[in-house]
Amino acid sequence: MRTVYVNGDYLPETEAKVSIFDRSFLMADGVYEVTSVLDGKLIDFDGHVARLERSLNELDMEKPEAFDDLLDIHRKLVALNNIEEGMIYLQVSRGSAGDRDFVFPDPEVTKPTLVLFTQSKPGLADNPTARKGLKVISIEDIRWGRRDIKTVQLLYPSMGKMMAKKAGCDDAWLVEDGFVTEGTSNNAYIVKGNKIITRQLSNDILHGITRAAVLRFAQEAQMEVEERSFTIDEAKEADEAFITSASTFVMPVVEIDGAALGDGTPGSVSTRLREIYLDESRKAAI
Ligand code: PMP
Repeated sequence: MRTVYVNGDYLPETEAKVSIFDRSFLMADGVYEVTSVLDGKLIDFDGHVARLERSLNELDMEKPEAFDDLLDIHRKLVALNNIEEGMIYLQVSRGSAGDRDFVFPDPEVTKPTLVLFTQSKPGLADNPTARKGLKVISIEDIRWGRRDIKTVQLLYPSMGKMMAKKAGCDDAWLVEDGFVTEGTSNNAYIVKGNKIITRQLSNDILHGITRAAVLRFAQEAQMEVEERSFTIDEAKEADEAFITSASTFVMPVVEIDGAALGDGTPGSVSTRLREIYLDESRKAAI
């Protein structure tokens, strides 16, 4: 049984409790982060905490009391649950005011809820899917306008994954006004020649922590990076495509809406970037 963290306590998962009035439960009034663990160490930890702080600020949500102890809490959960490879999920909500009300509770009275738990995933880095690549479909992006904030409103991304599954595919890319925003739970890229193309940052997409690291590594490896929007038609004509996220790292995409990219196997740029990302991240892990 897992040991999880709730508001200062480390508890068996079956004993951890949050109020039914918690605003993340009633209003999706919560934000989250997912940090990967490789070799028992945290990947891109500082980036995830910085984005968490930004999400909280954007929503006028108080920092949990334990904010400055997050590294210790992550490490303790990794140790208590013997995580070699996997993820740490962290969620902060605006807490429970003991009733349902649209109006934010007084932050002096109602404190945020902080929950963390581990997910053990042996083989996360040596993932066979990375050798096969993903098939994606495109669907309309009907999410709200502040996708730069990592909220727990994941119903539409969840529906998108189900649409992909029904179509015999692995994931969906979201399209707004004719242009790809991102994947349901990842950032989206295409490759043309030696050029990596991914949508520019704005409120329309989540500012991926993996995205930032991968673009930095790509530039260091003399690959050309272009941050701009692209269409599904352009993507279908690309040499390669891939996604990035904390839990998939760099994952090749080999098919978009039924059209195979290149020879239908993971491309060399995507494969190389995955290797570089894994190598460099392991070195910098804490
Ligand atoms: N976009 C969306 C919509 C996501 O949910 C995620 C992962 N949670 C990402 C991009 C990738 O972000 P990161 O690299 O920080 O995991």
